[in-house]
Amino acid sequence: MSAAADTIAAIATAPGHAGVGVLRISGPLAPRIAHALLGRAPRERHTHYATFRDANDDVIDRGLLIAFAQPRSYTGEDVVELHAHGNPLVLHALLDRLVELGARHARPGEFSERAFLNGKLDLAQAEAVADLVASGSLAAARAAQRSLDGEFSRRARALTAQLVRVRTWIEAAIDFPEEEIDFLADAALRAEIDALRTSLADLLAATRRGVRLADGLHAVIVGKPNVGKSSLLNALAASERAIVTDVAGTTRDVLRETIDLDGVALTLADTAGLRETHDAIEREGVRRAQAELERADLAILVCAAPDESPDSDLLAALPDGVARIVVHNKIDLADSAAPRVETRGGVTHIWLSARSGDGLDLLVAQLRRHAGEGDANEGTFSARARHVAALLRAETSIDDARSALAANHGELAAEELRQAQHTIGEITGEFTSDDLLGEIFSSFCIGK
Ligand code: GDP
Repeated sequence: MSAAADTIAAIATAPGHAGVGVLRISGPLAPRIAHALLGRAPRERHTHYATFRDANDDVIDRGLLIAFAQPRSYTGEDVVELHAHGNPLVLHALLDRLVELGARHARPGEFSERAFLNGKLDLAQAEAVADLVASGSLAAARAAQRSLDGEFSRRARALTAQLVRVRTWIEAAIDFPEEEIDFLADAALRAEIDALRTSLADLLAATRRGVRLADGLHAVIVGKPNVGKSSLLNALAASERAIVTDVAGTTRDVLRETIDLDGVALTLADTAGLRETHDAIEREGVRRAQAELERADLAILVCAAPDESPDSDLLAALPDGVARIVVHNKIDLADSAAPRVETRGGVTHIWLSARSGDGLDLLVAQLRRHAGEGDANEGTFSARARHVAALLRAETSIDDARSALAANHGELAAEELRQAQHTIGEITGEFTSDDLLGEIFSSFCIGK
C-alpha cells in the first residue's frame, strides 16, 4: 500500500510554538527530497546538520534532518523530519521547497491515516494520537498515552475473542441438529454468555470514564442574581474574568473558564440568573443559561444565605441526569456558620465564602470527585463518544443473543453475536467504512 501512495509534507509543530519548527515528509519521494536538501543520501535514523536551500541555492534555514526508512517509521513509509527555527515564514518557505521537490501538502490527519492503513496503528490508537495532542490536562494526556500504547485496543480484542468463543460453541451446536437443543441448554454456555455480558459492561464503564476524562467535567454555576456566582467562579479560577458587581443582572453573557484541578480539566459557566425577565438582552442570557444546563454534567446551585435552600424553579429547570451540588455562599456574613459539607436527600451541600475563600477547598474536593479523580490512576485509557456508541450497540446484540438462546434459537443467537463482533471491530478499525475514516482523520490537525 505504501508503494502506491504519493509523498506528503506538512509543518508538524503546534501553531504559535516559537522555538523549533518540525516538518514531516512521508512517501516514496522522501529519501530523494532528503538527498536534495542534504546534498547526499542521509543515513537512516541519524541526525544530520543540514543547510536548507531554496531553488536559487539561497539559504532558507539551517537545522536537523532525520530519515526513517520504511517500514520502520511512524507511517510505515519512508519518512523524513526536518527541525528548523520556529518562525512561521521560515517554515512555510521550507514547506514550499518540499512541494517544489515533489511533495504535496498533507491533509489533516493524513500521517496518522497512513499509519493506520499501513498497519502501524489501529484506529483507536490513531485517535489516541489526536487525543494526546488535544489533551487539556496531564491526566487526560496519560490516558491518551495508554490508548496509544494499545490498552483500549487490547481490551476490545479480548472481548472479541470471548465473543468468538461463544459464537463458535453455538455454531457447533447448530451443526448437530439432533443434539442442538441439548447443546444450547448447556448451563456452561449460559454462563459463558453471562460472563461476556459482564466483560462488556466493564469495558463500557471504563470507556465512559475515558470519554469523561478526555472531555473534562462540564460544570455550570447557577443561582439567583447576586448570590455570588461570579465571585465563586473567580475564586475558583483565581482570575478576574467574570464581572463582579452589586447590580442584579449584570452577568448577561455566559462566561467560561477552564481550570485544571490537579490534572482534571473543569469547565465552569457563570450564567445569568434563570428567571423570567422582560429585558431582551437578559432574556438572551437566560436562554444561554438553559442551553448550558442542557450540556452540563454537573450544576453548582448557589444560594446566598446559609439557611436558604436552592431556588425551586431552578431545581425544576435542571435536566435529568445532571448531578448537582448546592453551595451556601457568604458564610462570612453569618455569625456562627463554619465551612462544612452535608448530604441532604442524596445531594451534597457545601457552606463556604467566595469572598474569604473559607470552604472553597471543600468544593474543589467535590468537583474533583465528580470529575473522576482517582480514575486516572487506575489504567484509564482515553476514549470517544463513538466508542461508547459502538459498545452500546454490541450490548444490545449480546442481550438479543441471550434471549434467542433462552428460546433455543441457535441461528439467531449466532447471528446477533456476529453482529456484536462486527460492531466492536469498528473500535479498532477492523470493520470501518471510508466515510467513518474520513470523518475521524479530518478532525485531526495538519501534520499529525
Ligand atoms: P452573581 O450575580 O450571583 O454573579 O453575584 P456576584 O458574584 O456578582 O456577587 C454579588 C455581590 O455579592 C457582590 O457584591 C460580591 O462582592 C458579593 N459576594 C459574593 N460572594 C460573597 C461572599 O462570600 N461573602 C460576601 N460577604 N459577599 C460576597
